[in-house]
Amino acid sequence: METSIENKSYHVSDRGYYGNFGGAFIPEMLYPNVEELRDNYLKIIQEPSFQQEFEHLLRDYVGRPTPLYRANRLSEKYQTNIFLKREDLCHTGAHKVNNTIGQILLAQRLGKKRIVAETGAGQHGVATATVCALMNLECIVYMGSLDIERQAPNVARMRMLGAEVRPATSGSKTLKDATNEAMRHWINNPTDTHYIIGSVVGPHPYPDMVARFQSIISEEIKWQLKEKTGSENPDYVLACVGGGSNAAGAFYHYLDQESVKLVAIEAAGQGISSGHSAATTALGKPGVLHGSRTILMQTEDGQVVEPFSISAGLDYPGIGPQHAYLFDSGRGIFMSATDQEAVEAAFELTKLEGIIPALESAHALAVLGRLGAGSSETVVLNLSGRGDKDLSTYMKYLD
Ligand SMILES: *Cc1c(COP(=O)(O)O)cnc(C)c1O
Repeated sequence: METSIENKSYHVSDRGYYGNFGGAFIPEMLYPNVEELRDNYLKIIQEPSFQQEFEHLLRDYVGRPTPLYRANRLSEKYQTNIFLKREDLCHTGAHKVNNTIGQILLAQRLGKKRIVAETGAGQHGVATATVCALMNLECIVYMGSLDIERQAPNVARMRMLGAEVRPATSGSKTLKDATNEAMRHWINNPTDTHYIIGSVVGPHPYPDMVARFQSIISEEIKWQLKEKTGSENPDYVLACVGGGSNAAGAFYHYLDQESVKLVAIEAAGQGISSGHSAATTALGKPGVLHGSRTILMQTEDGQVVEPFSISAGLDYPGIGPQHAYLFDSGRGIFMSATDQEAVEAAFELTKLEGIIPALESAHALAVLGRLGAGSSETVVLNLSGRGDKDLSTYMKYLD
C-alpha cells in the first residue's frame, strides 16, 4: 500500500498514486488504451519539439501568458493584497483550453485520427472541438440529451467547430451517461481514438497529465508575482474545484512550498446540508469514481449522489485524486461557497473591477471575506473563466 511517507512530495508516484488516492480502476477492456498513454505521456511531453509547439500555441493561440492583475478596489475592500490570475482571458474563455491543446498534441504524436470527449454543460466539449478544428482531427462529443436541450449555445458552438455531438440517452441523460458512452466508444476504437478528459480526474495517468498541462498557470504566477512584489510566493493561492484542474494548475509549483496556503473552494449549492450540494470533501467519503480512488459523494451503500451547483463546471460528485490527498494530508485548505454567495461575489467583482467572472470562479471570490488574510499578506486568486456563458443566470438577479 502507498503511504503518505513514500509520496511526500504531493506529486504522483510511479504507480499513479497520491497517498492512498489515484490508481487506475478500469474495465479490462480499457487496459491497452490506458497503458499506451501511461507508457508514453511523460516521454512525449518532455520532447523538445512537443514543448516548442505547446509553448507556441499557448502564446499565439491561447494568448498566454495571461495577466496577473492586482485588483486594487477588491484589495481595499478586503484589506489585503489580491492578485487575479486572468485565465478568463484565455481563448474560449477559460483555462480548459490549456489542457485540450496539450492532449491534442499528444494524440497526434500517438498517431490518433479521432478525438472523443464527454461534456456536461459543454465547456470542455467546446475546448475540445476548438483544438480538433485547429488540428484537423475528427471530433465526437458525447453529451447527455437533457444537457443538449439545456445548453443550446454550446451545442451550436461545437457543431460550428465541426464536432459531431452525440446524445447520451440512458440514465439521467446527463454528464455521467455521456461519460459512459464516451468510454464505450473508446473501448470499441482503441487504436485510432484518443479520449480527452477535461479535468484532473480519471485513471492514471490522466490526473497527472492534465495537472502538468495546467501547471503553466503557477509557472507564470511565480515570475509575474516576483516582478510585482519581489517574491514569487504569495501567502495564499485560491481556486475553485469542480474536478480540480484549474486548482491543480494554480497549486502545482507551490505544492512543496509549505508556507504558501493552498485553498480549494467547492460549491456548496443551496447549502452543505441542503441535499442540493457539490461540496465533495464536506460530504464525501473515499471510493472509486471514474477510474480512480478518490473522495466522492455517495450513499451508505456506495451509490454516487447526484451533485448540485448553480455552476455547471462545479457540479461534479467527486474531486481529482491529488485534491483528495491534499485534503486528507491537510496540505490543502478546503472551503465552500453557496450558490447565493457565488452570485453576490460575481456582482461584487463586476462592480469593483469591471470584470464579469464565470460562476465557477465566483465561488473562489466568495470566500475572500472569511479567509483571514492580513493587510501585509498576498492572495493570488485563479480567475478560471469569464462570465459570458453565465449571463442568463446573472440576468435573473438583476433588478
Ligand atoms: C470547467 C470549469 C471549472 C471547473 O473545472 P476544474 O477542472 O475544477 O478546473 C472551473 N471554472 C471554469 C470557468 C470552468 O469552465
